[in-house]
Amino acid sequence: MHNPEILELFREALDSPLFKAATAAADRLGNPVFVIGGFVRDVILGRPGNDIDFTVVGNGETFARLLAEELGVTSPVNVFQNFGTAHFTYGPCQIEIVGARKESYRRNSRKPLVENGSLEDDQLRRDFTINAMAIQLNSNHFGKWQDPFSGLKDLASGIIRTPRDPDVTYSDDPLRIMRAIRFACQLGFTIEEQSYLAIRNNAHRLGIVSVERITDELNKIILAPKPSTGFMMMFETGVLEKIFPQFVALKGAEYVDGKGHKDNFLHTLEVLDKLALSSDNLWLRWAALLHDIAKPLTKRFDPKSGWTFHGHEFRGAKMVPLIFRNLKLPMNEKMRYVQKLVLLHLRPIVLAEEEVTDSAVRRLLFDAGDDIDDLMMLCEADITSKNPEKVRKYLGNFRIVRQKLVEIEEKDRLRNWQPPVSGELIMETFGIPPSVEVGIIKTAIREAILDGIIPNAFDAAYTLMLEEGSKLGLSKKNEP
Ligand code: ATP
Ligand code: MG
Repeated sequence: MHNPEILELFREALDSPLFKAATAAADRLGNPVFVIGGFVRDVILGRPGNDIDFTVVGNGETFARLLAEELGVTSPVNVFQNFGTAHFTYGPCQIEIVGARKESYRRNSRKPLVENGSLEDDQLRRDFTINAMAIQLNSNHFGKWQDPFSGLKDLASGIIRTPRDPDVTYSDDPLRIMRAIRFACQLGFTIEEQSYLAIRNNAHRLGIVSVERITDELNKIILAPKPSTGFMMMFETGVLEKIFPQFVALKGAEYVDGKGHKDNFLHTLEVLDKLALSSDNLWLRWAALLHDIAKPLTKRFDPKSGWTFHGHEFRGAKMVPLIFRNLKLPMNEKMRYVQKLVLLHLRPIVLAEEEVTDSAVRRLLFDAGDDIDDLMMLCEADITSKNPEKVRKYLGNFRIVRQKLVEIEEKDRLRNWQPPVSGELIMETFGIPPSVEVGIIKTAIREAILDGIIPNAFDAAYTLMLEEGSKLGLSKKNEP
């Protein structure tokens, strides 16, 4: 592609008030200014974003202030002296400005020593060729395409390549290992061979990167259109073992007397990919990743029934908080949601294997609450059998489960169930303090509703309360 063709792609962006102001500010400054990095890459990919990076040969801070002035930005310009960078917000855009620089790294830190440099120095310090393309903005060189490492060619052929020796690039800042795999997975690109080898050689260096940064990239891989490709790369390069060993433990199949079980690592990735086709919910995707996480812990071989993983849903749910804590994922309702889905992930399948009774559906609805739809989605993705007959049967039964869920919810409203008779009313009616009896009566009412013996309504529950009370030797003291 030649300069004019590239410029054509950028015409809309470069015609915007933001870039007009950047040119005006660059002319006032009198130093070369470029738009560079992710924004340039993403315009060419046809997905322009709101994060825009500029690099200035000379003082980044001065340019940042001139640009903010040209744009009439009133929000503060944040300056990071040690890094020679400045940042401000302009409408929906995050504007980053750096002075072009050279970097040198010390062994035990991913924070470089920096000194002023040329544009090419600045491009050389960037992680990938596709992230190092730049366009000049000063009027006298407006639109000049700067791509010394042929990033455009790599972008067109779908290749992740480093501007420098990959061994040095990944060792200097091992976060680039995660970024390489993340970009390859997000964009469906291939990591160039020398890079791939260098990633394998430097995977152990991920120890100097903060867990938060690693998990950020991991989440981006999980959110990619086909996450399994990222996981396979992380697995083959030893990255996954380093950052998420519990997941690697799912790998492989063991054989006894010629009987094997499925490879739960590959199965889980298949479930995740299937789910990714129907949901962008990061936490639902995490539930898919973790649904079988306790299989290695619960695996037994029984000469009669073969391989079993009894209780892996309970053990798995218990492992969720520890995994979340290690990866610095949020320890809040997101974690509890994942935990709940892991715990319940076998229930719809068990239900679909047998006759789908109303009372089993009621109990499922009661336990899953508002997460029932997500649970059903996870379970449908969990069917990875290669036997079309089995798949047809399961999916057919799931349709019945889904239909019954709708009918029963309409009738009994169990999704976010509140007992129709409260503990206070039980105590008041029988004139008793908080006690075991109150609990017994409440449980009896709940069970009767879930079994369909009484409807989920006040009158029926009140009558049952009186009956249960009298079984316990209680009598009515007060009217409701
Ligand atoms: P995304 O916005 O999807 O995360 P990005 O490439 O824009 O991708 P940013 O973190 O916004 O990533 O970084 C902007 C630019 O800074 C990159 O395009 C790249 O040129 C450079 N960069 C970011 N992180 C690194 C790094 N760890 N090592 C070298 N260069 C980096
Ligand atoms: Mg960006």
